[in-house]
This record gives sequence, structure tokens and C-alpha cells, in this order.
Amino acid sequence: MTDLEIIAYAEAQAETGKLLPRDSIIQLLAIETGSETWKELGAAARRVTSRLTHDRAYLWGAIGVDFAPCSMNCDFCSLGEAWGIVTTERKYDEEETVKQVREYVQQGVRWIVLRTTEFYSKEALMDMIRAIRTRVVGTYELGLNIGEFDLETANWLHTCGVDFIYHSLRLGEGKDTHFDPKVRIATLEAVKASPLKLVFLVEPVGIEHSNEEIADICLLAANCNAIVTGAMARIPVPGTPLGVYPQIEEERLAQIIAVTRLACGSHVPDICVHPGSQLQMEFGANVTVIETGSVPRDSSCCCGGKWNQFDATKAKELFQKAGYTVYATAEGE
Ligand code: SF4
Repeated sequence: MTDLEIIAYAEAQAETGKLLPRDSIIQLLAIETGSETWKELGAAARRVTSRLTHDRAYLWGAIGVDFAPCSMNCDFCSLGEAWGIVTTERKYDEEETVKQVREYVQQGVRWIVLRTTEFYSKEALMDMIRAIRTRVVGTYELGLNIGEFDLETANWLHTCGVDFIYHSLRLGEGKDTHFDPKVRIATLEAVKASPLKLVFLVEPVGIEHSNEEIADICLLAANCNAIVTGAMARIPVPGTPLGVYPQIEEERLAQIIAVTRLACGSHVPDICVHPGSQLQMEFGANVTVIETGSVPRDSSCCCGGKWNQFDATKAKELFQKAGYTVYATAEGE
């Protein structure tokens, strides 16, 4: 099939819940950015987004709980101990975390996620989760982006008040990270077998990744039954091993967003982009990320402010310009 035929086929079958075949995903990822076919790819993804989401958009609010050196030393992460970027530690306490969660809830953030380095105490985090649930009333969904765990722990996290987990098999896992990919996949399987929901983006996408690698991670996210997928660019952090390579172009990230939208269709109805821009939203992303605290894309802690000055107001403006309305919940207002 030609590129345009695959795009038309993907659009026609988007509501069936079927995934696009791997070779079709790879072919769409090879379309030249800026071309007429690339524009049609984005337009088709946006039409599918309207049909699947009714132009409802959502915000993802992350709180990096600990700005601290992490001994896993992933090649793209500012927190890697070996890169020597983190020289002073900073941890969010209960008061500060509750205040930030409350702010996100007031701003209409649907998914609020606490993110930690790999070995942060899960018991301490559960104390935090219980405190948040007691002190911040609302319909928000609360999640974690933490280290590895098994099914028993997944079930325990759910009973403590956790709704969802952000976890992924990263691009270059086992090569640009010191994780055994099997260990990351075992955590994904534990989430899948538990009542927890999964959010899994294709990340951190850089110029070093092939279309084949991107397609494989996209399909894995869908097959793990992620409720949200999409893509996140690798932000080059000076001083990290991958920091010497530039960030992918906005047009390329938009292409990957559009392909994930068409590849997953109604199987994964919400598609997230980070960093967010109007172009990404016009190419089918209906979720974007605001983050504060410790950010693995930055060499200092964003305590108080939002990473890249990208806040809820800015995200809502962009969604509005791209034809969406931001809602705080799946069904209501
Ligand atoms: S990405 Fe996560 S596991 Fe890897 S170094 Fe950073 S905090 Fe540690």
C-alpha cells in the first residue's frame, strides 16, 4: 500500500480497536516531515482524535518528589549519580506535595503522578498517598512513576489509593540504561495483572532511534493495555552521555504522535505528548504534561515553578487553539 492508502485504511479502522500492523507503522514513521503526505497524516490523526475523544483534552500533572542522585545512571537522565549534576538533594515533604496536588486539582488536572528515583521508599510514598487522599478532595486520578515491583506490590499500591502507574520499556532500554529489559517488562505485566491502570509513552525519543524501535515500543504499550500512550522527546541534558545529541524536531515528534494515534485507534483512546505544542495537538495529542519538582530533563529542581514555564494556563490555551476543550474527568466537567 502507498503511504496515503495506509493513512486512509488506519482512519477507516480506527474505531474497531484493531492495531495497525508493524510494517505499516514503520512505513508511516518514514514519511518525510513537512511533505504533503505528512500533513495528511496529521490531519487524519486529528480527525480520528475528534471521533474518539469528542475533542476532550486532559492535563497530566507530574510532581518529582526527590531531586537526588540515582544509581541507575540512565544515559539521558540528569539525576544519574555518575554524571555529577545533582550536587544538592531536595525532597518534597507531605505539606509541599499536598499543596502541589491541591493546585493541580484546582487547575483541572485529571491525572496527577508522583515521580521518584528508582529506589525511593514505597512505604514512605504510601504514607504520602494516604495523606493526599485524606487532605485533597476531588475526582482527580492519582498515580506513581517509580521503580520496579511485582504483582503483590501492585495490588498493595492499589489498596493504598493509587489509580494508575506510569511505566515504560524505554527506547534503548538495556543499552542506554542499566536495566534488564525483562525486569521492566515484568513490572509492566504486574500492572496489567492488577487493578492499576497503565500509562506508557514511547520515550525518550531521540534522533538515535530507528522507526523499527519506535514501532515496537508503540505496539508494546498498546499490547500492555495502556489507557494513555503517545510520545515524549528526549531533552538533551548537558553532562549526560546522550546530552550531546540534539532534540528531535517538533515536526518529527508530531509525526510520531500522529502515528501512535493511527496505530492504536480506539484501543488506546488518549494520546499524550511531552513537551506539548499546538502542532502536536493538531496532529492528534489530546493530553499533555505539566511538571514540577525534580525533573530528569533538567539540571536543577523546579521547586515551586513549572518545568519550561509550561503551566496549566499555557496548556489550556494551546488545546483551545487546536480545537479542544480541557476537562478534569473522563465524563464530567
Ligand atoms: S531515569 Fe529513573 S532510573 Fe534512570 S537514572 Fe533517572 S531516576 Fe534513575
